[in-house]
Amino acid sequence: MRVPVLTYHSNNISGNDYATNDHVALAADLRLIHRKGLRIVPLTQVVDVLMGGASPSTVAHAVAITFDDGSWFDWHDLDHPTCGMQRGFAGILRDFSGETGAFVHATSFVIVSPDARATLDRTCLAGLGWWDDDWWVAAQREGLLSIESHSWDHNHHTLPETAQREQRKGTFLTIDTYRDADAEVRAAADWLDGLLSPHRSSLLAWPYGEASRYMLDDYLPTHQAEHRLRACFGTEPAPVEHSSARWNLPRFVCGSHWRTAGELDQLLIAATERD
Ligand SMILES: [Zn+2]
Repeated sequence: MRVPVLTYHSNNISGNDYATNDHVALAADLRLIHRKGLRIVPLTQVVDVLMGGASPSTVAHAVAITFDDGSWFDWHDLDHPTCGMQRGFAGILRDFSGETGAFVHATSFVIVSPDARATLDRTCLAGLGWWDDDWWVAAQREGLLSIESHSWDHNHHTLPETAQREQRKGTFLTIDTYRDADAEVRAAADWLDGLLSPHRSSLLAWPYGEASRYMLDDYLPTHQAEHRLRACFGTEPAPVEHSSARWNLPRFVCGSHWRTAGELDQLLIAATERD
């Protein structure tokens, strides 16, 4: 088993070319993946294989796609204030599937707290109400995008108050006590499950790709009945293999681990060569 998990941020729009716009990159990359004869599989299928619940053949020659932060750009087509009309990630997936007939699926790791998103909409986006969760139920129902957790509030540095007990923000390494882990992880799962029932949230992507030793060694292994997570994803650039750490599975991030279609091509060759 060697499955590259590719990560995109729909808020990454500072221009309209591959290097400055994750929407342009995603559209190009889906077609590259298809041309290379690789399949796209849901992230849950990768976790099923990792945990022995499915045959490795179900993820052979495959990649999985994930999105982080969960703004409207994951779902809606929007007129960006400086870069013009942007096809939403969901539309890009549908366009690709319509063009090629290939199966496509992605997992959106969303910031769960409504209050946090309302503030982030002003501090990180244009303040136009583009971080609402009104699309999550429709996305989950359609089956194109799965909605999973990117924590309660990302412990984001622009929020006036986060769940972190000492307000040490801008990192997830400071989420290192039971109380803070419970507030960031279990509370987020409860909120998502309430909204998306009967879907049960079971995956999490670490904000900033960071997880404390307490989180990895204590909270996640010993409080499974509370947080109900099957696996967590970080940002170590490697494919998911049987030996990968369940609570910090690797992912490749667009813009960090590859910046051109050529670099993604090389990355995919290296990541899948022993398949
Ligand atoms: Zn994030």
